[in-house]
Amino acid sequence: MASHIVGYPRMGPKRELKFALESFWDKKSSAEDLQKVAADLRSSIWKQMAAAGIKYIPSNTFSYYDQVLDATSILGAVPPRYGWNGGEIGFDTYFSMARGNASVPAMEMTKWFDTNYHFIVPELGPDVNFSYASHKAVDEYKEAKALGVDTIPVLIGPVSYLLLSKPAKGVEKTFSLLSLLPKILPIYKEVIAELKAAGALWIQFDEPTLVLDLDAQQLQAFTAAYAELETTLSGLNVLIETYFADLTAEAYKTLTELKGVTAYGLDLVRGTQTIELIKSNFPKGKYLFAGVVDGRNIWANDLASSLSTLQALEAVVGKDKLVVSTSCSLLHTAVDLVNETKLDDEIKSWLAFAAQKVVEVNALAKALAGQKDEAFFTANASAQASRKSSPRVTNEAVQKAAAALKGSDHRRATNVTARLDAQQKKLNLPVLPTTTIGSFPQTLELRRVRREFKANKISEDDYVKAIKEEIKKVVDLQEELDIDVLVHGEPERNDMVEYFGEQLSGFAFTVNGWVQSYGSRCVKPPIIYGDVSRPKPMTVFWSSTAQSMTKRPMKGMLTGPVTILNWSFVRNDQPRFETCYQIALAIKDEVEDLEKAGINVIQIDEAALREGLPLRKSEHAFYQKWAVHSFRITNCGVQDTTQIHTHMCYSNFNDIIHSIIDMDADVITIENSRSDEKLLSVFREGVKYGAGIGPGVYDIHSPRIPSTEEIADRINKMLAVLETNILWVNPDCGLKTRKYAEVKPALSNMVAAAKLLRTQL
Ligand code: GLN
Ligand code: ZN
Repeated sequence: MASHIVGYPRMGPKRELKFALESFWDKKSSAEDLQKVAADLRSSIWKQMAAAGIKYIPSNTFSYYDQVLDATSILGAVPPRYGWNGGEIGFDTYFSMARGNASVPAMEMTKWFDTNYHFIVPELGPDVNFSYASHKAVDEYKEAKALGVDTIPVLIGPVSYLLLSKPAKGVEKTFSLLSLLPKILPIYKEVIAELKAAGALWIQFDEPTLVLDLDAQQLQAFTAAYAELETTLSGLNVLIETYFADLTAEAYKTLTELKGVTAYGLDLVRGTQTIELIKSNFPKGKYLFAGVVDGRNIWANDLASSLSTLQALEAVVGKDKLVVSTSCSLLHTAVDLVNETKLDDEIKSWLAFAAQKVVEVNALAKALAGQKDEAFFTANASAQASRKSSPRVTNEAVQKAAAALKGSDHRRATNVTARLDAQQKKLNLPVLPTTTIGSFPQTLELRRVRREFKANKISEDDYVKAIKEEIKKVVDLQEELDIDVLVHGEPERNDMVEYFGEQLSGFAFTVNGWVQSYGSRCVKPPIIYGDVSRPKPMTVFWSSTAQSMTKRPMKGMLTGPVTILNWSFVRNDQPRFETCYQIALAIKDEVEDLEKAGINVIQIDEAALREGLPLRKSEHAFYQKWAVHSFRITNCGVQDTTQIHTHMCYSNFNDIIHSIIDMDADVITIENSRSDEKLLSVFREGVKYGAGIGPGVYDIHSPRIPSTEEIADRINKMLAVLETNILWVNPDCGLKTRKYAEVKPALSNMVAAAKLLRTQL
């Protein structure tokens, strides 16, 4: 009757860690205060799992910032610029690497596989001096033990650590990260020996990179690494944990032949083929940690179905060798449903957050051992049944309309060149037209107005009046700055997905459903539980109000279907693309209503299009096809003279450039200023782009105000690569996090730069 949890959220049920971190960073509390909050969180998590009956409880899954940065600390792989002089790594060095300090910027951060979690990328060169510099894993193991909980310490496996790293500056092209394996393994040995001495019986190595497309040499690194660790590991049970996708047959073979390894953790939720691999060949005497409870979503497990999967696996691996587990760390789900006081009871019965998933894992393990909690299973079965039959989930008209889209194609009637001509006749814009991405600074006052309206503390009239005044201010400012295509500033929006989700059917919202994005930052994704439709127009009132304040074109501002999908918890009872098509139809209704209301330029943001790219290359084409199709569905019905913009928040899109072209937008604005070369190189290499394009001319993530010359210089660089008549001039992204004191001079310099260059063409 064994159960295991791969990892657990660290933030706490009410984001206690976030507040403790931020207060420490702001020097409002001491290191001891922060350590106390952290210790209390760890202790309550361990005790909660122990009380639930979990046998293999993880430790070292807590982190003050990021588990990969923790591994970097263990290995003492601090980049020299942080001036660390050896010894145990303390908060100073640790948080400098994470967040930068007055003189040195932070290390690079990137997405953790296809999740919305971001990790700090290790930077490794040939001359890093590895040393055992953080005893966190051992300390946490001992801490739990002192509380009476014997845990399974978790380390990022040595090969995944290297594969997730990047070569240090200067050796990018020449350096093989895997060549560092012999240098880091001695440190791993020290950690393992210490854990053993402290009494650990098990150890878990997370090796999620095993699910990626790996070549033979990379796979060989796993074989070599664990062979090297074998002696040190002897006497311990060793679990290699993989997650987020299936293993290829080669990776599975490599995994199951690793020396010194006694247990394999496999994701049976995302890994749909994995079961077949297990059935066809599972090494005798080894443990299978079967990840049947989804760590990436908030849905209650279908316990009956999981139980029958587990029973089938038990027949293959043997009764005492099967351990019930989560598909991955629960880091990627919300913390505790108990705190959701505002969710409707029926919807709540369909959900399970981390705390509830722990209970599910245990219930499954007990049922396997013949101690089925009948009441728990019956309640679960009736919740599953209610979810299947509930009228709030199913909307037949929507299902039909979405199904009808599948086989067909949706494109605007004419090509982009003809459309741009028609639009130019109507809009009459100068060359190098200027615009912004949508949001203007969100002042405290504005947030207060929205909050009070939501809480019914101010009337709708007062709210509308306040928002109108804000829009008027933003419109006047843009006219004064002489920007060509205006925006209304998005003062009515708190978040670009939540704003639409709240007005669409099929969405639910939590109060405390936070998920860590990076460091102390959390997001609260909406839950898409049913068929999506749009009961009434969502933005038309604000956009036409804004348009009535100016003669210049006012951009309608929408979030695209793929971004809404990728930034939500998505239903798991139908394929993702089906949900995406439904959202696309709802946005299409909105686009057409905006057009009818006289809005001639409509921006449909797809900030998260690239994020949804599957981990495995073999699945890329399918995703890109339906994602791009969904975007086109939203605007295929508009007239030639209606100009469709889209916007994306990253420049690294070499791998999806053809999808971007295939989106067939009239104008695309893209983040660019932090990596000029990456974006422009795509075009330099000969990719033809006929639509309008606005690579961001300055970084809105920084308070720095760029000068006119600097911006003009940037635009000139773009002009060297792109045709004059397709280039737009705009910042990188929305201005919502900036202050007016920064935005005014920056935009004024931006317009000045565009005007300067117009005179030189
Ligand atoms: N229109 C949104 C804004 O300006 C876009 C935000 C984004 O791309 N993340 O805020
Ligand atoms: Zn953006």
